Amino acid sequence: MEFLVLLFKQRLLIQRYQQLVRCYWLKVKTLCLLLAHELKTSLARCDLCNNLSDGEFICRTCQHDIGRFNLPKGTNNLLLWPAVDKIFQKRKFDQLICYAPYIWPYDVWLKQLKYQAKFELAPLLAKLLTRCWQDHLSRSSQYYINNSLCITSVPIHLTKWQTRGFNQAHLIAKHFAQANNLHYNANLLSRIKHGDSQVGQSGIERRKNLANAFTANTQLLKKFSHVVVIDDVITTGTTANEISRVLKKGGVEQVTIMTVALSLPLKK
Ligand SMILES: [Zn+2]
Repeated sequence: MEFLVLLFKQRLLIQRYQQLVRCYWLKVKTLCLLLAHELKTSLARCDLCNNLSDGEFICRTCQHDIGRFNLPKGTNNLLLWPAVDKIFQKRKFDQLICYAPYIWPYDVWLKQLKYQAKFELAPLLAKLLTRCWQDHLSRSSQYYINNSLCITSVPIHLTKWQTRGFNQAHLIAKHFAQANNLHYNANLLSRIKHGDSQVGQSGIERRKNLANAFTANTQLLKKFSHVVVIDDVITTGTTANEISRVLKKGGVEQVTIMTVALSLPLKK
């Protein structure tokens, strides 16, 4: 009997030691992860100037120095700029807000996000759009009611989503809405027609490809009068027009297109 009690006590002791080792191992593991994160943050280098960037993709100096659109007066709505207004004459959207022309480093970044899945770019691009949006709000005489405003992104077809695995516009829009405390709905629009890449296509080819390519969730749309559609880049405005047409058909009064870059088409 005494032998059994001793054995039981020994087993309890072993279990206690095992628990302690497990507990210390977890603490050591957590500490190592925290240290690795701190080290990574403190040693992170700016993608543009290679200076320390405090954990960000580019340092604060570069964030303020990189080229961007800066309208001298009025709002950040580029359609008030005659040169842009002329390009999108047959537009169905009401406002166009873009951070910069499609030049370096935006052209490189947008390709890296889309084709190399460099996801750390999404928060940075959303941050730039946030700056643009805040500027727009402070300059605009229009008053926005957050409850009737919805952020969404240009959807991609399921086939493309299956091959690429993500939608870059969705990643930017999600971070943007979060940063501005705005309602985001990724299911407001769907792409029902799969088309070839629009790169290199003429305006007529794009319009033909995109006719009836999108559909809207009319039940969801009822709640909103203003929709801000986010995309990485706008070129001919064909996608923006088709989406705006669908949204307005569903009862939306105002459509704002917001993109990181504006790539001017070579031919109209
Ligand atoms: Zn820098």
